[in-house]
Amino acid sequence: MSTTFDGQPVLRLENVIKDYGDKRAVNGLSFSVHRGELLCLLGANGAGKTTTIEMCEGFIAPTSGEISVLGFNPATHPNAVRERVGIMLQGGGGYTGIKVREMLQVAARYSANPHDPDWLIDILGLSGVAKNTYRRLSGGQQQRLALALAIIGRPDLVFLDEPTAGLDTQSRIAVWELIRALKRDGVAVVLTTHLMDEAEALADNVLIIDHGHEVAMGAPDELTQIAHSAGVFITSNKDVDEQAFENSVGSTIAAIRPLHYRINLEPTPEAIAKIASELERQEVLITQLETSHRNLEDVFLDITGRHLRS
Ligand code: ATP
Repeated sequence: MSTTFDGQPVLRLENVIKDYGDKRAVNGLSFSVHRGELLCLLGANGAGKTTTIEMCEGFIAPTSGEISVLGFNPATHPNAVRERVGIMLQGGGGYTGIKVREMLQVAARYSANPHDPDWLIDILGLSGVAKNTYRRLSGGQQQRLALALAIIGRPDLVFLDEPTAGLDTQSRIAVWELIRALKRDGVAVVLTTHLMDEAEALADNVLIIDHGHEVAMGAPDELTQIAHSAGVFITSNKDVDEQAFENSVGSTIAAIRPLHYRINLEPTPEAIAKIASELERQEVLITQLETSHRNLEDVFLDITGRHLRS
C-alpha cells in the first residue's frame, strides 16, 4: 500500500526549464500530481515529454525551476526518489538470459513490500511465458513485463512511457485495468501516450505540451469542451424552417446541401431530444442523424496545429 503524503502532491514542478545548449527543450512547465491521480502528457515528437520525465527521475538536472518528488529534489536525492518511483520506459531492455518469473522474483527482493510476482504474471497474461527467457518474448510480452517490473515494488509514483503502444486489444485492456487498479491503490501515475482514447479513458488531467511549453491543461472533458466543431448532422424528408428552429432550440441550423443540415450543438441526450421535438412540431421526419463528438485529437490539432504523430 502506498504511504500517504500529507495531502501534498506526490510530484510537483514549478517553472521548470531545461536547455541543451541553445535549444530550450522544456520551457517553464508547472504541474502537480496527487495520490491516486493520473496525469497524461500529450505532445508531438520532440515536445519535451521525455526530458521532463528524465528530470523528475533525477537522470538529468533542470537548468532552472523546482522539482519535488515525495518531498525530495530528484537532482540531489536520486536514490531516495528512485526507491519509491517505478519507471516503465519504451524498449526498456532487460537481462536477456533470465526467465520472466525469475526476473520478477529478483526485482521483488529489492522491495520491502512487493506485489506477488505470480499475481502480476497472471493479470498481465504472462503465465504462458513465465519460464521463457526475456529474449524469447514478443515485443508486447516484453512491454507487459516492463510494466510489471515498474510496479512490483509498490511505488508511490510511476512513469509509464507509451505503455500500450503496439499491444493487441486484449493486452491493452489488461494494462488499462492494471493502471486503474494502481490509481485505486493511491499510486500517482504520469503517462505519456500518442493514443487519444487512452488519455480519455485513464487521465484525470491532461497536459498538452508543444515545443516545451504548456499549451493546455485540464480534465479530458474540460479540454474537449473548448473545441468548437462538435455538432449534430441530420437529413430530413422536407425543408426545415431554420428561423423557427433557431428560435425554439436556441442554436443555429444550416443546410449543407438540400435536406442535409448541420446543427451547432454539443450532442447531449437533452440536445437530441430538443431537436427531435422541434422537428416533430414542424412535421419534419428525421431520416438520418449523426453526431460528431470532439475528442482530444481534435483539441490537440486545434491548439498546436498538428497531429500528435507529425
Ligand atoms: P518523443 O515523443 O519523440 O519521445 P519528447 O516529447 O519526449 O519526444 P524530448 O525527447 O524531451 O521530446 O525532446 C525535446 C527536445 O529536446 C527535442 O527537440 C530534442 O531534439 C531535444 N533534446 C532532447 N535530448 C537532447 C540532448 N541530450 N541534447 C540536445 N537536445 C536534446
